[in-house]
Amino acid sequence: MIAIFCFYLKWLNKVNLPLIERAKENANKIAIRATEGTFTYRELLQTSARIATALLANTPDLKEQRVAFLIPSGFQYVATQWGIWRAGGIAVPLCVSHPRPELEYVIEDSGASIIITHPDFETVLGSIAQERNLRFILTTDALPKATDSLPDIDISRRALILYTSGTTGKPKGVVITHKNIQAQVTSLISAWEWKSSDRILNVLPLHHIHGIINVLTCALWAGAECHMLPKFDAQIVWERIIAGDLTLFMAVPTIYAKLIAAWEAADSERKKIMSAGCAKMRLMVSGSAALPVQVLEKWQNISGHFLLERYGMTEIGMALSNPLHGERLPGYVGKPLPQVEVRLVDENGNLVPPGTPGEIQVKGATVFLEYWQKPEVTAKAFRDGWFCTGDLAVNENGNYRILGRMSVDIIKTGGYKVSALEIEEVLRTHPDIQDCAVVGVADAEWGERVCAALVLRAPSDLTLESLRVWAKERLAAYKVPSRIIVVEELPRNAMGKVNKPSVACLFKES
Ligand code: AMP
Repeated sequence: MIAIFCFYLKWLNKVNLPLIERAKENANKIAIRATEGTFTYRELLQTSARIATALLANTPDLKEQRVAFLIPSGFQYVATQWGIWRAGGIAVPLCVSHPRPELEYVIEDSGASIIITHPDFETVLGSIAQERNLRFILTTDALPKATDSLPDIDISRRALILYTSGTTGKPKGVVITHKNIQAQVTSLISAWEWKSSDRILNVLPLHHIHGIINVLTCALWAGAECHMLPKFDAQIVWERIIAGDLTLFMAVPTIYAKLIAAWEAADSERKKIMSAGCAKMRLMVSGSAALPVQVLEKWQNISGHFLLERYGMTEIGMALSNPLHGERLPGYVGKPLPQVEVRLVDENGNLVPPGTPGEIQVKGATVFLEYWQKPEVTAKAFRDGWFCTGDLAVNENGNYRILGRMSVDIIKTGGYKVSALEIEEVLRTHPDIQDCAVVGVADAEWGERVCAALVLRAPSDLTLESLRVWAKERLAAYKVPSRIIVVEELPRNAMGKVNKPSVACLFKES
């Protein structure tokens, strides 16, 4: 008995990653509530130590071996991610909705030597592992007793590889160190005043920075509770909001649009209950794509919350944010977050004055280390130590407004440069238009033509001519779409973001 107690004390006192050390201080608190049950920080530490032990298989340190894992959002996901880190590995989260070729691409590109999966994905991942002779572990496999000699992990080591889909070419592996995670998390904890009494609901996929860092890791760093749904479901999220125990919610604009649709479909008694649930939260955040002002306004009417919009990217974590306290401006993403330097530059790398659009460049401890095994691409992405985001923005009275990605959202037409996001914002105010995506399509006469894919509210007799007449009263003539296409839904990725290259293809096909 004494021997077990001494072992436990020794294990508890080991110097390790800050996230792990902090969890020890909160050992008795609830860390995760998920479909599998409720788990304390102690249980998370114990299970992740056993997973680390299994991964190590009697070796002292995984030494940055890549471990790919495919586990629905829940306790097993988190325990596995921590287990990989505690064994000295690099965690490579796979996307639950990706088809086999995309899973194969990530596993091969990252050079993963071990695959861990939930039994739901056993068939596909088992065969991928077998074909490549990789170690294969199921989350249901029996775990060994935890070793008391897990390696010490220096925070400058690589922690995560997240695959980000570029607009051209194959996705690149963004390498994030433990130090990057520390900077990204502490920046958000101080800006949004995370507390150990916070309770957040995660509805985001956990192969992307938004869910992994802003929701899950911030919560666990703060000693807070992270409640996890295996996937987004508007009705279930409303039930959880109505329950009234959540303090924080973070999502992408599409999720807010779906929650609005579910609220609008409810009867008036239910609407009141839903809205009352929101009133109990202290903060609701939107990001990862531009938040349409209409969504922001509708959500404010429903929930009483003026969504806090922020801007970030897999490579840089979060960079700009509206304030927790103080005025939040619709259509703006606020100011630089703590520990983040932001500047706007023109094509020649010169700083632009306020009011003039420029590329967002970012510097600081939050910025990623490298693109996995792509030194030239990494070198090209930096200028004098600044990461070039490829996003265009303008600083107006100290607040940044995002104009879009230079590669797809900035349309060069008839000698003008126009922002697709600005045009979309105006088109969404048309009574017949529910949603839209504006793209530039190559054209011999104009360079690029402004084209709009539209999702209509109901059967409508909207024509290109009537839309152009309406739009010309609100936009400069060169910004008015010269081609439209009506679609049932806009093409989106697993994060719910509109896939602009796919939208452009719709016009090339028609
Ligand atoms: P990801 O790396 O998948 O998070 O995508 C990052 C990209 O999403 C950025 O480079 C921006 O183009 C876009 N983005 C993120 N947040 C915002 C925002 N609040 N407004 C407009 N675009 C955004």
